[in-house]
Amino acid sequence: MDTGRALDADGPTEKCGVVGVSFAERDAALPLYYSLYALQHRGQESAGIVTHDGFQQHSHVAMGLVGDAFSEDDLDALNGPTGIGHVRYPTSGGLDSSCAQPFSVSFKSGSLGLSHNGNLVNAGELRSELENLGHAFTSDGDTEVIAHDLARNLLEADLVRAVKRTMGRIHGSYSLTIMHDDTVLGVRDPEGNRPLCIGKLDGGYILASESAAIDTMDGELVRDVRPGELVVLREGGSGFDSYQLVERENTAHCFFEHVYFARPDSVIDGTLVYEARRGLGRRLWQESGVDTDVVMPVPDSGRAFASGYAEAAEGVEFAEGLMKNRYVGRTFIMPTQDERERAVRLKLNPIRSTVEGRTVTLIDDSIVRGTTSNQLVDLLREAGAEEIHMRIGAPPIVAPCYMGIDMASREELIAADRSTEEIREQIGADSLAYLSIDAVAEVLGEVRDDLCLGCVTGEYPYDIEDEATDRDVDRPRIDDQGLPADD
Ligand code: SF4
Repeated sequence: MDTGRALDADGPTEKCGVVGVSFAERDAALPLYYSLYALQHRGQESAGIVTHDGFQQHSHVAMGLVGDAFSEDDLDALNGPTGIGHVRYPTSGGLDSSCAQPFSVSFKSGSLGLSHNGNLVNAGELRSELENLGHAFTSDGDTEVIAHDLARNLLEADLVRAVKRTMGRIHGSYSLTIMHDDTVLGVRDPEGNRPLCIGKLDGGYILASESAAIDTMDGELVRDVRPGELVVLREGGSGFDSYQLVERENTAHCFFEHVYFARPDSVIDGTLVYEARRGLGRRLWQESGVDTDVVMPVPDSGRAFASGYAEAAEGVEFAEGLMKNRYVGRTFIMPTQDERERAVRLKLNPIRSTVEGRTVTLIDDSIVRGTTSNQLVDLLREAGAEEIHMRIGAPPIVAPCYMGIDMASREELIAADRSTEEIREQIGADSLAYLSIDAVAEVLGEVRDDLCLGCVTGEYPYDIEDEATDRDVDRPRIDDQGLPADD
C-alpha cells in the first residue's frame, strides 16, 4: 500500500479504521479479519473484532498488527454472522490495551460494541456528566464516552432515536460502526469529517472506513455513508436502512485523507484517491513547475503526485531516484545522534546514476517537521545532484489536528511560524513550493467551505477551545436532563 512514510518519525500518524458486517449464513469473523488487513495502514497499535451469534457477544482485542493479534483459534471462537472490527493507533486515550477497540459493554437492555474513527472535542464534558450520573469508565478514551452515552439513551429510546440523541450531544469527528445485540450500524458525523462507506458482499453487507476493504472481499461499493446519516444493516444480510438524523449546510471532509492517509486504491466521497493525488500533482506543475532534468517521488508518499506532475510537465524524465528498504520496521535501535542520522540511509538509498550531475525535482505529499526533507536533500546532494527543487502536493501545515490525527504539536510543525523561504533554507533545497489551498479544493471537486482545512489554515470546522473556527459552529447545548436542547 502506498501510504508509508519515508521516515515514520516525521509524518502525521493515521488514526483508526473501522468495519462492520452482517451476513445471512456466513460467519463474520474471517471477512472482518480480511477487512482489517485492508485497513491496516489506518492503525497498527491494536486490532479487535466483536461478533454476535444471536445470543451473545464474542470479543477478541489484542495489541499489535492484525496478523499478530489473531490466531486461527481466536477467529474460530468469534461466532456469529454479524460483527464489527477496528484497527487503532492511539489518538484520544493512552497507548495501552484499555483503549484498544472495539469497545464492548453489557447493560440492562442488551449488549453494545463500538468502533470509532475520529476524535470528540467535548468528550471531557460528557465524561464528567456521565460520571456524576454513576457511570464508571475503564479507559480514558472518548469511544467509551460514546458507548456509555448511547447505552444510557437506549434505556429510554429505540435504537434510531437513541443514536440521534447521542449525535446531538457529541461534538467532533466520528465514523462509527456499532453493534447493538446482533444489529450492526454505521454512523458518520454530521460534517462527514472521517470516511465511511457501504458495500455489498456475497450474502451480506459491509460498512468500512475505506472501499479498499470492500474490494478485498470481492464486494461492490454501494456508496459513501452520508454526513449525519445512520445506516442499519438488516438482519440476514438482506440490505440496509438509512436514517438521515442530522443535516448541515456544509460538510467538513478531511482533505488530508485524500492527500496522505487513505489508500490510493480507495474511493472516498466519490473520488479515487490515486486520481486525486495525480490531479494534485498536475496542479502543482501548473502552479509552481520548474524545469529540471528529472522528476522523482519521495517513496512511497510522493509517487502519485510525482506521476501527475511529470505528466503535466510533458517530456521530462520521471524516475525513481530513491529506493526504499521495505524491511525496516517502525522502530530500530539508534543509540547515538550519528546513528540516528544513519536511519535515513537504512530506509532510503539514492540511485546515483539517476541523480549525479543532474537537476532534480523531488515531490512529496507534505512536510510536517521538516527533518525528513532535510535528510533527503542531503542524500541527493551527496549522490551528486546539481540542483534540488522540492514540490509539495499540499499546503503548508501550520496547525495541529484535533480530529484524531497525530500531526505533531504547533511547536514541532516547521511551517507554524516560518515562511516558505525560511523552510527552504532550513531543508537546504534550491527551491521549494507548496500547493495552494484553492487548488486542493478545486482538484477534490469541493468548495472550501465543505472541507476541513484546520491544519493548513488554523481555523477549524468544530468549536475547539482556544482555537478559531471557519464557520458558525457551537458545541451542542445540553438541557437540564442531559438531552440535546432540540431533542
Ligand atoms: S485538521 Fe487537517 S488532518 Fe485534521 S481533520 Fe482537518 S484537514 Fe484533516
